[in-house]
Amino acid sequence: MAVKTRKEYLESLKAMRPNVYKFGKLIEDVTTDPATKRTVESHARAFDASNDPQYAEDFTTDSTFLPGEKIHRWSGMMEGLDQVMGNSKLKRWMYRFTGSCTGGLCVGWNAQNVLWNVTAMTDKEFGTNYQQRLKKWIIESQKKGLVVSGALTDAKGDRAMRPSQQSNPDSNVHIKEVRPDGIVISGYKTMICGVAASNEVFILPGSGYREDDQDYALSCVVPRDIEGLTIVETRRASDSRELEEGWDIPDSGITQAYMFFEDCFVPNERVFMCKEFKYSGKIIEYFTANYRACIGACVAGQGDVMIGAGALMARINGLAASTFANKMVDMAVNNETTYAMGIGAMALGKKGPGGMWVSDSLIAHANKVHVATLPYVTKRICQDIGGGIVETGCFPSYADFKNPVYGPTIEKAVKASDKYSAEARARAARLSEWLTLGAGVPGCMHGGGSPDGAKLVVRALTPIDQFADYARKIAGIKEQVPEPEKKKK
Ligand SMILES: Cc1cc2nc3c(=O)[nH]c(=O)nc-3n(C[C@H](O)[C@H](O)[C@H](O)COP(=O)(O)OP(=O)(O)OC[C@H]3O[C@@H](n4cnc5c(N)ncnc54)[C@H](O)[C@@H]3O)c2cc1C
Repeated sequence: MAVKTRKEYLESLKAMRPNVYKFGKLIEDVTTDPATKRTVESHARAFDASNDPQYAEDFTTDSTFLPGEKIHRWSGMMEGLDQVMGNSKLKRWMYRFTGSCTGGLCVGWNAQNVLWNVTAMTDKEFGTNYQQRLKKWIIESQKKGLVVSGALTDAKGDRAMRPSQQSNPDSNVHIKEVRPDGIVISGYKTMICGVAASNEVFILPGSGYREDDQDYALSCVVPRDIEGLTIVETRRASDSRELEEGWDIPDSGITQAYMFFEDCFVPNERVFMCKEFKYSGKIIEYFTANYRACIGACVAGQGDVMIGAGALMARINGLAASTFANKMVDMAVNNETTYAMGIGAMALGKKGPGGMWVSDSLIAHANKVHVATLPYVTKRICQDIGGGIVETGCFPSYADFKNPVYGPTIEKAVKASDKYSAEARARAARLSEWLTLGAGVPGCMHGGGSPDGAKLVVRALTPIDQFADYARKIAGIKEQVPEPEKKKK
């Protein structure tokens, strides 16, 4: 059962306690409710790929802990370059299959690998047994083929203040009580991807913390339906198309969620950091290094679909895709830039203290800045190729298109090349719109952290003094040219 089928995955979600809300109502079954079925469908396609010989190599791997056992790749460990590159490849495929984000197959996977490295450090310094607990949980997760979303981002409150200074302590998820058999946690995590489609949620601290904030230095994993957790799914569409039927949006998609933890009890065997604030910063450092390397593949995969959508629009409009060859090359260059920068960051990485791979931080963070920039250029080109019908929603709804009185006239107006149906043009246009303006826009700007945060790391890791010295020597300047001393206020 380590490699599950779509059917087994859907059954695992149906068996969970309903605790997900959207549009003001409790969702009884996330696999069929219109508000969540598309994100579930996206995840289900990963199970299809795991069982498809054509894709199984990229979607499955050998378990480190279960000899001879094949597991889903997203449950695996990333000990070396091959495995971390496997993360990138899987993400690019997922975007190609769904047009959108990898959701709950992504952050939890990275989190378990990061914690492997960090628990090696905390266990060594504090004599804890976090890594043994983590190993036990990972083995169970691999056996069950779980989907595990990951929650770092807290509601935060006032951005200029630390968690312990907030007027509402729940602005950040924290440890309320330590008991002999576990901990009690409360607080809010927000914008968490793929939660409705997940079996469990891996919780990490939202930042590196000091002693005052030790209650927020917390890592654990909880069932998505744990008692005391209320989840509100957030909308990705700018209108109500999400609930329309027809081709107005694809069958796949992704949603984020707000998660409200209220006195949730987490048993010790699921706790991997409890107040060891000294190492909370290491979690962020290792997490962002791999994550910001890998997301180059996400936006590249969506860019692949945007090239495809552009080609469809051109042909259905009556033109050859090659009419726009230069624009498509520009799109492809953007896709390969973020993909390859991520691979470069991985290639120049090394094993972390627990033996799991950590990508090169400087290149990974520089990549995050491109990830927050280049996909928007690719989207602009996709709109440019498709025409107004894709750009501004200049196209009647599915219901109007199918109206018995004026629907046939709309069809005639929408039809372009005689070779293709009006419906084909409508579907291609809606896809382009979804990819570039609507719910299919992944979090290229802030997903995985804001570009400004990434630039802070690039600034810290760029040795400007050393570079000035190279320049000074080449220029033949004999005297030293140091940074001027800061003026005293
Ligand atoms: C589509 C999407 C999917 C996501 N999925 C996940 C997920 O699965 N799991 C998860 O944990 N998170 C997820 N996130 C959250 C994401 O990690 C955060 O959006 C990101 O870290 C930025 O945090 P924020 O949105 O709170 O921005 P803010 O903190 O509000 O930042 C806004 C701007 O202010 C700047 N800023 C913030 N604080 C300061 C300060 N003190 N001084 C100066 N400048 C400051 C930032 O750099 C940024 O430019 C997702 C986000 C998106 C958009």
